[in-house]
Amino acid sequence: MVRHLLAVALKERVTSAIALRKRTKEWFRTSWRHRYAASYHESACSTAMGIARSYLRLKRTGVRVGEPRANRLRITLHQSLSRIKDGALRVTVRPGVYLYFPLADAVRHKRWPEWSVHKLGEVTLTKRSVVLPFQVPEEPKRTAEATVGIDLNLRHADMLSDAMSERVPLDRLANAQSRFQRLRESVQRRMPKNLQRQRRVLRHHRNRQRNVVTDMVRKDVAPEIVKLAGGRNIAFEDLSKMPRGNGPSRDLRRKLSRWTCGLLQREVERRSPARIVYVNPKGTSQECPRCGGKVSHPAWRKARCANCGDFDRDRMASANIMSRGHRLLWGQPLAPSARASAAELARWTPERDSEGPTRPKPYDG
Ligand SMILES: [Zn+2]
Repeated sequence: MVRHLLAVALKERVTSAIALRKRTKEWFRTSWRHRYAASYHESACSTAMGIARSYLRLKRTGVRVGEPRANRLRITLHQSLSRIKDGALRVTVRPGVYLYFPLADAVRHKRWPEWSVHKLGEVTLTKRSVVLPFQVPEEPKRTAEATVGIDLNLRHADMLSDAMSERVPLDRLANAQSRFQRLRESVQRRMPKNLQRQRRVLRHHRNRQRNVVTDMVRKDVAPEIVKLAGGRNIAFEDLSKMPRGNGPSRDLRRKLSRWTCGLLQREVERRSPARIVYVNPKGTSQECPRCGGKVSHPAWRKARCANCGDFDRDRMASANIMSRGHRLLWGQPLAPSARASAAELARWTPERDSEGPTRPKPYDG
């Protein structure tokens, strides 16, 4: 069924599963309707469109691909076709004709009691397996009293609230990023003639790099940040409002790439039990966290307010992100006492001074 639908989709340049279904309605009625319920037509159209889309995407990006074919025997059932009844999965073939699958294995799954109370989604059948997705509602995020602001830059994530300040190293991510940048430049130098080949090699490296970075973010960095936040709300800078164009600004250059930041933010959001907010990033490193006045930058990583003294530039940014986040979440500014104690945590101190302007250490993996 899918093969025919796929051929139609590609030949007639159909762009949606619904359009494909309309176009092939008569064909389904004459050749399949006596054996299968109408919902199978709908399912097969979605599958065919999925294959058609990924084929066209690959073709657009220049990968050499053969004509697509639906080879694997698999079906994703329309929701109306399956239900759990008397300890078995009942699949409708056509009205009055059913298939039953025993659920013994599924019931042994450790999350079965928790998941199986929810609505059954679209079941997938393959030659060897039955996949049962349940529509488990997402748990609503709680708004905590306290908020932690996070400034993401090339060397570390600075986390700061009115009661804690932590620095999570990110040099591994930044190094993976710059290593790719160097590789890219060397590939462009080494094979300037053959553009097509160059593009292929670069794509290979980029995919590898993405896998490396994604892995680090998912397994190390995001879980650590959520753990350190300790159930507080988390405020990030809104990347979509980062200054763009006119070359990278000073602020942007000390940031992780947009892509890595976005990934990290999404992963933290997925794991955090408390609310996540995104604040306007404009001027977060230009503003005194205590009095709100404009700061100067007399030295690398240092920020100075004429009224309040010296701050660590990155921690100060986190403090500002935190108070903006608090205002977004609670609709009122942070209490002056909390603001003052956050500002104290963002202070420039001699021992921090000795950390010096470190370059990222080489990544050893
Ligand atoms: Zn001040």
